[in-house]
Amino acid sequence: MASVTPEPGGRVAVVGAGWAGISAAVWARAVGLTPIVFEAARELGGRARAVSMEIGEQRVQVDNGQHLMMGAYTESIALHDLVVQAQPELAARPAFERTAFALDAVSGWSMRCGTQPAPWHLALGLLCAKGIPWVERLRMAWQLETLKRRAWQVESGSLVSQWMHGSGQSDWLRRELWGPLCVATLNTPPEQACAQTFAHILRDTLGANSSAIETLFAQPTLSAFIPEPAVHWMRHHGVELRLGSPVRSVGAAGTQWRISTSEGDTVVDQVILSTPPRQSLRMLQDSPVASSAQWLAEFTMLPIASVYLAWPVLHAPALPIWLMLKENSQESQFGQWLFRRDVQADMQLACVVVSAAGRVSGLAREALLQGVIAQVVEQLSTAMGSPCPPPAAARLALDPQATFACTPNRPKPDHATLHRTWPGLWLAGDYCWPQYPATLESAVRSGKAAALAAHHYRAALSTTA
Ligand SMILES: Cc1cc2nc3c(=O)[nH]c(=O)nc-3n(C[C@H](O)[C@H](O)[C@H](O)COP(=O)(O)OP(=O)(O)OC[C@H]3O[C@@H](n4cnc5c(N)ncnc54)[C@H](O)[C@@H]3O)c2cc1C
Repeated sequence: MASVTPEPGGRVAVVGAGWAGISAAVWARAVGLTPIVFEAARELGGRARAVSMEIGEQRVQVDNGQHLMMGAYTESIALHDLVVQAQPELAARPAFERTAFALDAVSGWSMRCGTQPAPWHLALGLLCAKGIPWVERLRMAWQLETLKRRAWQVESGSLVSQWMHGSGQSDWLRRELWGPLCVATLNTPPEQACAQTFAHILRDTLGANSSAIETLFAQPTLSAFIPEPAVHWMRHHGVELRLGSPVRSVGAAGTQWRISTSEGDTVVDQVILSTPPRQSLRMLQDSPVASSAQWLAEFTMLPIASVYLAWPVLHAPALPIWLMLKENSQESQFGQWLFRRDVQADMQLACVVVSAAGRVSGLAREALLQGVIAQVVEQLSTAMGSPCPPPAAARLALDPQATFACTPNRPKPDHATLHRTWPGLWLAGDYCWPQYPATLESAVRSGKAAALAAHHYRAALSTTA
């Protein structure tokens, strides 16, 4: 596959190279298309990539926001495996740490699951859990079983809060489990979050096999997992990469498509538009499909705050891999999860995540930072049973457009209908996988689906030609 021979219908522009665009470009090339990647930034990865950050007086490489992946991210893992395949030096270096499910909560409960076949891994996990009242263990198992019997379907259009009340969930389960899981996975508060999407998440994690709930942490950063090896793979396979090349518009050129950048126009047979919904709409505004693309404006984006903390290695607390914190909004303690990161420049790094951060948007950045620091010191001291020293340095990273609001009434792209209206123009991106919220896995799946659709379309064109 080293040399590229353009075939009729096979020249495909991939606009945007977050994980959706990377997946689209790699799979498009793998099935014999000729992708040209247009990415506004100088590097690949979009919302999930490494950034260089100053913390205290040191410069470190961290993710642009803490991400958690799970064994259920099968297509992300498959994409990683594909792009490191031909690069033995990368294949030999683990780009992620995969561990069995082990969750500790500051409020005093913990649960671990082994590798037994489902559902025994969960049953044993619940049996051996610590700090969970027995009645709550039974309720949790019963709730998952009920959802499974209903084929993971909940009342259409319902909210997670309605599902929790309607199915008689206890205060404990709402407060300690379903509520925090909803905010963590959907980045949307239970009072606004889509119950059906949440049920899909439960189906594919707690309701699936033991490997689905294993946790995956990219090492040392998200870029090492997919974006960096993907660049090497694409170069090796002759994919044209136009980095630092923001696309201004996507318009029709006869039966083809015109991609306009400040460098000029490029005419291609097909386009995979892998940018977030509003950016995609902006690019399509002067195209013939503009009037049927207005639904893209209906997505609302929500923020996530990541607070990076650093302790000198010699004085660092013994941090768990991840820890569920206890929010206390009265004290401006909004952190929900703490993740141990690596050691850099003699500092132990950690990251605290504040999801659904819209409710803290009125708070000054410094107040949020100080609230989280006080929370970590207090709650880690409780969790560890010994005083936790305050971090030597801290830094707040706020992404105001982290994910779309995962509400029941968000638009859900119907790709078959779109294809009839927009022949040769495909959408990809986390918002294009309606079963899931905004995740890396939905981005990767949507990119692969778009590439395969472009492949079939090209085949259909060749048959009719
Ligand atoms: C702080 C934070 C924490 C998160 N935590 C998790 C988590 O724990 N687990 C999880 O699974 N997901 C998490 N997510 C969500 C996940 O990062 C996203 O769902 C995913 O990265 C979206 O990928 P994408 O390719 O669809 O979009 P993007 O990553 O937004 O990619 C779009 C790309 O298009 C480019 N672009 C934009 N306009 C143009 C243009 N005009 N021309 C050319 N290129 C353009 C952009 O530069 C970008 O590279 C988190 C997100 C954030 C921000």
